Amino acid sequence: MYASSKYIGRFAPSPTGPLHFGSLVAAVASYCDAQANSGKWLIRIEDIDKPREMKGAADDILRTLEAFGFKWDGEIITQSKRAEYYENALQTLKKLQLVYACTCSRKEIADSSTRIGIEGAIYNKKCLLKTTGVFNQSESKTVKSGAPTAWRLNTSFETDLTVSKCQIYFDDAIQGEISQNIAQDIGDFVLKRADGLFAYQLAVVVDDAAQGITHIVRGADLLNSTARQLCLQQLLGFSTPHYAHVPVAVNAQGEKLSKQTLAAPITPQAAPILLFQALMFLGQQPPAALKQASLAEIWTWAISHWQLEHVPKQLKIGI
Ligand code: GLU
Ligand code: ZN
Repeated sequence: MYASSKYIGRFAPSPTGPLHFGSLVAAVASYCDAQANSGKWLIRIEDIDKPREMKGAADDILRTLEAFGFKWDGEIITQSKRAEYYENALQTLKKLQLVYACTCSRKEIADSSTRIGIEGAIYNKKCLLKTTGVFNQSESKTVKSGAPTAWRLNTSFETDLTVSKCQIYFDDAIQGEISQNIAQDIGDFVLKRADGLFAYQLAVVVDDAAQGITHIVRGADLLNSTARQLCLQQLLGFSTPHYAHVPVAVNAQGEKLSKQTLAAPITPQAAPILLFQALMFLGQQPPAALKQASLAEIWTWAISHWQLEHVPKQLKIGI
């Protein structure tokens, strides 16, 4: 593994479409922070959610990053090839009796829920209660026969493990102190979906640990996910990286940018001005003269003047 004093950052795009200004901002922030700290910067393709993937997007994103002058360290890892590692982590949690099988449909979950958390209806633990005291037994005992089975983390199982590890506090380098009680705010979240795919929350934790990531700089749309990730890190015995969540670029309607809502295309020709704009968005104050500068000159300025403390604390900023 890596010496703990080293800085290892990463950019982890999901190949659901080409790079847009919003994802460029996250890439620029994590890259500048890593470079300014003489760190490494890794890339991981988060293609875990195959149904949402757009064919060719991963290559397209990598070509765009290259054209922008990003230089990454080491090999690019791809989540779709790493199911065995996610399965191992799930097995560890099963052995700790912290997960249970759930056969509820989306509709059943919505109809039976009596509490709304920060991400919608909180699952009422029906499948856990059906099997009270019967954790970790063969699936057949816990599952409606033939129904697709998801695996959920029991966030309120009263052992010193979960009760303490699902009440999360962390200090985000941009957003400040965050606290979240996962049982109350989120509920028993899914680690492996009924369609057999591993959930982002589990995969990201396994991969950040495997790559020895020490610093995560990413969009604030993931701020609410961070507590779940810390919880899983603690339960799996992984160390917790430092986190910094940068504002997300939104359109006039307040929607996160995507292929559909993209204002200006991310083209290699536009790279210098887009990099300049990303730095402005991140609260850095590039001199106006830099607008006419070359890509290399803008990068040199960006890295040597990078100030994480100048990044605005807002969760969203309209562009
Ligand atoms: N793949 C996620 C996304 O593109 C980012 C995950 C992360 O940075 O933790 O939204
Ligand atoms: Zn269920």
